Amino acid sequence: MADWDRQRSRLSDRLRERVVDEDVLAAIASVPRHLFVPDDKRHAAYADRPLPIGSGQTISAPHMVAIMAEILDLSPGDQVLEIGTGCGYHAAVTAELVGPENVYSVEYHAPLADDARETLDATGYGEVSVRAGDGKQGWPEHAPYDRTYLTCAAPEFPAPLVDQTRDSGVLLAPLGDGQQRLIRAEKQADGTVNRVDHGGVRFVPLQ
Ligand code: SAH
Repeated sequence: MADWDRQRSRLSDRLRERVVDEDVLAAIASVPRHLFVPDDKRHAAYADRPLPIGSGQTISAPHMVAIMAEILDLSPGDQVLEIGTGCGYHAAVTAELVGPENVYSVEYHAPLADDARETLDATGYGEVSVRAGDGKQGWPEHAPYDRTYLTCAAPEFPAPLVDQTRDSGVLLAPLGDGQQRLIRAEKQADGTVNRVDHGGVRFVPLQ
């Protein structure tokens, strides 16, 4: 087994302390995080911590990606909207769980979107759709989504994202300025949302 593979499988094992979903752990064990991070950060790719990815942005720690995937309860075939592609790592983990052709991701910084598209292509996740633009507007052309999540912190779920999520669909985002909470919201048929607070988190702010 190559050294990267061994490091990755060890990381996935360590996450068992926090994550029980075997499919999520398998996804973490599959996605080559070292190919998503900048060259000079590669040595730390399988440490469980965030890393800088350029344009002042960071890739979330693997445990946070895993916890978000577990909370979203992703199934094969789910249509998923991600806001904040960054380097594309989180999108690739989601793609492992739902199928790459079902993942739509919007990134504010065009250079990051371009790099992410290239990396996703090179790592076998080329069917993930990435668009540069303002994620607050979502991606209406492919709505409705079964699942919608943000990898950047917003004051509140942006209304277009709620609209583009189907009834009984789930939204997940870090909400709040300064102090952020990871909030899961399930959209009810009557238009209300049922919220669950999953604790304090730290993400870069939504632009
Ligand atoms: N999921 C990413 C981590 C992204 S960090 C990964 O695996 O690498 C959060 C990302 O959200 C950053 O890339 C940032 O540029 C992006 N972002 C911030 N505001 C945004 C907005 N309004 N629309 C789309 N993306 C945004």
